[in-house]
Amino acid sequence: MKLRYFHPHISALYKSLYFPPVVIFVAILVATFFSWQSARNSLHNDIADAEHTAANRTENAIKSDMVSYAEVLKGGVGLFRGSTEVTHNDWSAYLQAYDLAEDYGNVQAFGYAEAATQAALPDLTAYAHNQGITNFAVDVGNPPRPDYAPVLYVERIAAQAPATFGYDMYSNPIRRAAMDQARDTGAITITGRLEVQARDSLPPDGFTMFAPYYTPGMPLTSVTERQAALRGFVFAAFRTKVFFDPIAARITNKSSGFRITTTDQTADQPMYTSEAFNAIAKHKDTLKLTRQLHLYGKTWRIEYAFDRTGLVSQVQLRRPPSVLLGGIFIASLIATIVLLLLRSRSRELAAQKEHAVELAKDELLSLASHQLRTPATGVKQYVGMVLQGFAGEIDGEQRRLLEKAYASNDRQLQVINEILHLAKISSGRIVLARQLTNLNELVRDIVNEQENDITAAQHEVTVGLPKRPIVLNIDNHMLRMAIENLLSNAIKYTHPGGQIDVKLYKNWRNVFIRVSDNGIGIASGDQANLFKQFTRISNEMTQEVGGTGIGLYLAKSLVEQHGGTITVKSTPGKGSIFTIILPRESPEL
Ligand code: ADP
Repeated sequence: MKLRYFHPHISALYKSLYFPPVVIFVAILVATFFSWQSARNSLHNDIADAEHTAANRTENAIKSDMVSYAEVLKGGVGLFRGSTEVTHNDWSAYLQAYDLAEDYGNVQAFGYAEAATQAALPDLTAYAHNQGITNFAVDVGNPPRPDYAPVLYVERIAAQAPATFGYDMYSNPIRRAAMDQARDTGAITITGRLEVQARDSLPPDGFTMFAPYYTPGMPLTSVTERQAALRGFVFAAFRTKVFFDPIAARITNKSSGFRITTTDQTADQPMYTSEAFNAIAKHKDTLKLTRQLHLYGKTWRIEYAFDRTGLVSQVQLRRPPSVLLGGIFIASLIATIVLLLLRSRSRELAAQKEHAVELAKDELLSLASHQLRTPATGVKQYVGMVLQGFAGEIDGEQRRLLEKAYASNDRQLQVINEILHLAKISSGRIVLARQLTNLNELVRDIVNEQENDITAAQHEVTVGLPKRPIVLNIDNHMLRMAIENLLSNAIKYTHPGGQIDVKLYKNWRNVFIRVSDNGIGIASGDQANLFKQFTRISNEMTQEVGGTGIGLYLAKSLVEQHGGTITVKSTPGKGSIFTIILPRESPEL
C-alpha cells in the first residue's frame, strides 16, 4: 500500500529536472565516501606502521644496550673460569680494560657475588679481609638462611653507588629469583623491578643482571648438575632511570613515551616511566600501544603513548577530512552545473515550443482573417451599391437600416484588418513602405474620417496643427492605423459630450501626435498592461463598447517600426493623454 502511495512522488522526481543532478550528487557522494574510507584506512595503517616502527626502534635500543652489558658480564665469567684465582685487583683490572664510564655509563656497578653456605662464610670473610676489603661483612640473618651469595667484589661505575661488600644478594627474593633462574639455565638473567635506595633525585627503581659462574670442569648438562657446580654470579646493577632515560631521549621525542613493567609484577609498579609518557598519556586522543619484549629470561610489558601529530605529518592527518569536504564540494558543484545546464536546455526547448505555437497561431490568424475579409468586403460593396441607389429607390427606414448594416460591416472589416496586421507583426512580416507624408494632412484626414462617431457621441474635438506642415518619411497606411486607434479609443472611452484634443507638434528632435480626452481614464496599475496583446482593461465602458484588445498593441508595434514610441498619462475619472513620438530623422532619409 505504502509503495503505491509513494509511487507518484518517485515518478515525479524521476521526470523532474532535479533527477539527474541528484543522481550525480549521490553518485559522487558515494564515491567520496569510499575514498574517505580508504583515506582513513590508509591513515590508520600509516599511524600503525609509525607506531610499530617507533616501538621497534625503542626495543632494539634496549636490547642492544642490554647485550653490551651482558657481554661485559660474559667476559667477567670468562675471567673467573680462566684462572685459578681472581683477586679484587684482577677484577678491577679486568673492568678497567673497558672504558666503563664512557661506554657503559648507564650501569651503577659491576660486581661478583660468591655463592656460599653459612659454614663457608668465615673463610670467605677472611679471604676478603686478606685482600684489603676490610668492610666485607655478611649479615647472616635471624634465623640464618640456607645459603648466601655475598658481594665479594664490586666496581662502582656511578660514583655515588654504594659499595656493598658482603651484602647477601640472595636476601632479596626478586634478586634471588633471577639468580636461581640464571643458575638453573646457565643463561644471563635480569631481575624484575627492584626497590633500591632513592637518592640524588633518582626514583627507587632498579634491576640487576646476573651471569652464573660454575666451577670449571664440572658437568653442566642438567639443572641438578648446574646447581651443584654453581660458584657465584657476575652481576651488573642498574638504576632504571639512568638506564632508560638516554634510550628515551635517543629514540622517542616529545610526541611519544613509554612505560615498562615486568609481567610478573603488578602493573601499578612500573620499572620505568619516561617523562614524555605521563604528559602524553593525559591527552584525550593519545594513541596507545602495548607490546611484550622477551629479554634475558624476563618478559617485559612496554606501553607506548603516542601523540598522533608526532607520528604522521599534518598533511597525512588532514587527508581524510579534505577528501570528504572536497568530495562534497565537487558533488555540489557538478550537480549544480548539471542542473543549470538542464534548466537552460529545458528553457530553450520551452521557448522553441512557444515559438512554434506562436507561428502556428499567426498562420491561423492570418489565414482566418484573409478568408473573412473577402466576403466582408463583398458585403460592404453590395450594401454601398444599394445605398447609392444602384438597385432602385430606397425609403428612409430602409436607408437607416442599411446604413447601420454598412457601419457594422465597416467595424467588422476594421477588426479583421487589425487581426491581420497583428499576425503580420508578430511573425515579422510587416515591411514599411515609407514615403514623404504631410502629417498635417494625415491628422486632419483621420479626424474627418471619424466625424460620424464623434458626432454620434456628441464630443467636441479640437485639432491643433502647426502652421508649417510637418513632413516625415513614414508608411502612411501604418501610421494612420496607429493614430486612428488612439482617436477611436478617446471617442469610445469618453462619456458622451466629452472634450477631445488632437495636437501635432515638434521639437528639434521629435514629432509628437498627442490625443487627449477627458474620459474615464486608466488606473495607474493597469497602464503597464495597456499595450499588451488582447488586453482589455475592464472598466465601466469596456462592456458596452466593442473592442478586441489589439488596438494599442498594434499601434505601439507600428510606431516602433518607425523607430518611435507611444506614451500614456492618465488619471481615472479625469482623462487620458496618449502621445506618439516619432524621430524627425528617419533612418532612411
Ligand atoms: P480595445 O479594442 O479594447 O479598445 P485597445 O488595445 O485599443 O483595445 O485598448 C486596450 C484597453 O485600454 C481598452 O480596453 C480600454 O480599457 C483602455 N483604453 C484605451 N484607450 C483608452 C482611453 N483613451 N481612455 C480610457 N481607457 C482606454
